[in-house]
Amino acid sequence: MSSAVLCAPAAVQPAAVAPIVPGATPLLPVVGADTRVPLVPGGTARYVDLDTAASSRALEQVAARVTEALPLYSSVHRGAGYLSQVSTALYEDARATVAGFVGARGDDVCVLVRHTTDALNLLAGCVPDGGAVLVLDCEHHADLLPWQQRGPVTVLPTGATVVETLRALGTELAAAPYALIAVTGASNVTGESLPLDEVVQLAHAAGARVLVDGAQLVPHRRFSLAGSGADYVAFSGHKTYAPFGSGALVGRRDWLDAAPAYLAGGGAVQEVTVERTSWVAAPHRHEGGSPNVLGAVALAAACDALAALPAGALAEHERALRERLVAGLAALPGVRVLRIWADSAEPTGVVSFTVAGADPGLVAAYLSAEHGIGVRDGRFCAHPLLARLGVPAGALRASVGVGSSLDDVEALLGALDAFLSAGPQVPYAQVAGRWQPADDPRATDLSSAARGAGCGPSVR
Ligand code: PLP
Repeated sequence: MSSAVLCAPAAVQPAAVAPIVPGATPLLPVVGADTRVPLVPGGTARYVDLDTAASSRALEQVAARVTEALPLYSSVHRGAGYLSQVSTALYEDARATVAGFVGARGDDVCVLVRHTTDALNLLAGCVPDGGAVLVLDCEHHADLLPWQQRGPVTVLPTGATVVETLRALGTELAAAPYALIAVTGASNVTGESLPLDEVVQLAHAAGARVLVDGAQLVPHRRFSLAGSGADYVAFSGHKTYAPFGSGALVGRRDWLDAAPAYLAGGGAVQEVTVERTSWVAAPHRHEGGSPNVLGAVALAAACDALAALPAGALAEHERALRERLVAGLAALPGVRVLRIWADSAEPTGVVSFTVAGADPGLVAAYLSAEHGIGVRDGRFCAHPLLARLGVPAGALRASVGVGSSLDDVEALLGALDAFLSAGPQVPYAQVAGRWQPADDPRATDLSSAARGAGCGPSVR
């Protein structure tokens, strides 16, 4: 052994780096993160937004892109002016970005729509005539009612486990021909999902296509049409940090080209006479009327921001928040966290729960009025699932996203603890079926709300 090694100076220790605790801070900045809201007992609190599954706030990057595009906004597609050409390029580039974000194959089509409901109603009009659709009874109404309305549809009972549910799907697919299985990418009630690759395998083996309702998946996990083999995905901008009225249906071209125009009108046609009309191919075939250029720009900006996150960061952030939330809820007496399946993989950051002996509407009103916390209560547009879970009267739902932090989760847990130990501090009453403070001094018009949030002219 050489003396040089024996005499080597001690290795220089790297300067201590504060450990990064997942979930400690928001992953991406959202507009209005510091908004303060009035409390009914008096004073104000930072608004704690735990309702991102319903609608998520705009990313700062999204707002900045919209602000940049706004002065350039003009008519699209048929305008000869320079700004019309810029706007057309913005719109079509946004379409390409959105398609890329969900891993569209080269021959897939991306139709820009208003939201997931719009996308699913559009696809319902494109499934070839007579083709049957298969869904589970755990779907959001948006992924149930368009199929019911169109018919024929089979609504399969969701099994108690993922294994049972997949087996039931396989049995049903073997028993009857289906054109399409419409499946949730992540439940809006529990954040759970079926293993998509297995659903795709079962469906394709039986000659059926797969639509993924991506409303609660696409904003929260990397999703790829090409990677998963799924045929279609639908999702909403307002749940993807781009609340500007846009969404998308992305997937196989043939059904979309063969179907009647979803929105008959200008922009969707090649030639019109008083007797007959010839239509252009998808996507424009289904986008009659003036398109939502700024909505598309916003959605693409959100896709860019999420795509730029390091691989796994989004899942890790939400996992940390969800784990703390579920552990904290489980420690509270009488609180039950809802699960669809006993054996599902890690859910997204959507957690529904009940509080024994307390009406969910009352708890939600209390959280808002006394703590400035926004959650959802009710049946979450998933009535059959809530009935299946044994809570036909509804539950509470807290949901997190890139703008959430552990402080938000702790605020909810603390407020629930106070509710259980001390009860509400002000009286509540039901008005038209909704719980609210018996005497609510909070004004909800824009200028009062903006003043309260510190973004309007100050009150004298
Ligand atoms: N699918 C799921 C799973 C949802 O959570 C929602 C909305 O909450 C929808 C579909 C409908 O989305 P939108 O209201 O944006 O059309």
